[in-house]
Amino acid sequence: LKLAVGIDIGGTKTKVGLVNEQGESLVRTFFRTKEYPDIDDFIARIIEAIGELKIQLGQESKLIGIGIGAPNASSKKGTIENAANLLWKGSVPLVEKLRAQIDLPIKIMNDASAAALGEMLFGNAKGMKDFLVITLGTGLGSGIVANGQLIEGHLGFAGELGHFDLTVGDGRFTGLGVAGGLEAYVSATGLKRTIMYLLSKYMDDSVFRNIAYNDLHGEDITAAAENGDPIAIKAFEYTGRILGYALANFAVFTQPEAIFLLGGLTGSGKWLFEPANKYMEKHLLEIYRGKIKLMRSGMHGKNAAIAGAASLIWVDQKAHDDRE
Ligand code: BGC
Repeated sequence: LKLAVGIDIGGTKTKVGLVNEQGESLVRTFFRTKEYPDIDDFIARIIEAIGELKIQLGQESKLIGIGIGAPNASSKKGTIENAANLLWKGSVPLVEKLRAQIDLPIKIMNDASAAALGEMLFGNAKGMKDFLVITLGTGLGSGIVANGQLIEGHLGFAGELGHFDLTVGDGRFTGLGVAGGLEAYVSATGLKRTIMYLLSKYMDDSVFRNIAYNDLHGEDITAAAENGDPIAIKAFEYTGRILGYALANFAVFTQPEAIFLLGGLTGSGKWLFEPANKYMEKHLLEIYRGKIKLMRSGMHGKNAAIAGAASLIWVDQKAHDDRE
């Protein structure tokens, strides 16, 4: 049984899984990223986790490589650089450090770009040549595929659409300090900040009047909208409008066939998709109107982040098998 290790490094959790050729994580685990402020301790924890997973799997397997998805990662340099949501500052040569300890092919890539690769291999973008994947979590990430190729960028940092300066809204900053940047509005954090903003702007009665920012969760906002909470409903309308406007503008670069949304926030379903679609259509160029599908990622429910990371290894393996 051939398996690839998929590792998703996030601001809160680092998830590790052993992934088969269909993109399924047969076994997986996670630990808190911030418990390892020293990068060497973090690497030791990763190696330990892989060992634990092999035991948990309980059958013979051959690991074919390690794929890593992380914010602000460069596929070309093998590094993570100045990630706002991680503790390690400067340039972290993760691939080089892991390679010194494990003799396997190791690849790293921006988390959302890895998700786009996963979407091509295991999700809804099979056979599609032009599409975008937008991940909505703590931040907003993007993976851009054009002409069937993932756009990596000159130094490997392409697709930082979360920091696209839209110059909209109430002047918030993204994690990387961009005022008016997209992820300050369209992300789990952005939605929570919008709730706070709307509470101060409108007099409406709302369940959120009695909830502290830190106790706010995306699912509660969806549930409140379902119950008719006017602030929750306005928050989704506000978030979806900004997202739709942004997507209409991004469309001019590559004219995608589809845009896939992925991540916790997509659990809100129609509350996000309806305004996003409406405003995207409104702002799209005439020649694109009605021709870009806005869809939920096909990786949903499949431990998407781990599968995306593992796809870095599976793409190479499949190309290799095809040549044989
Ligand atoms: C980072 C991206 C990342 C995204 C999602 C953003 O803040 O700049 O590199 O893809 O968050 O994790």
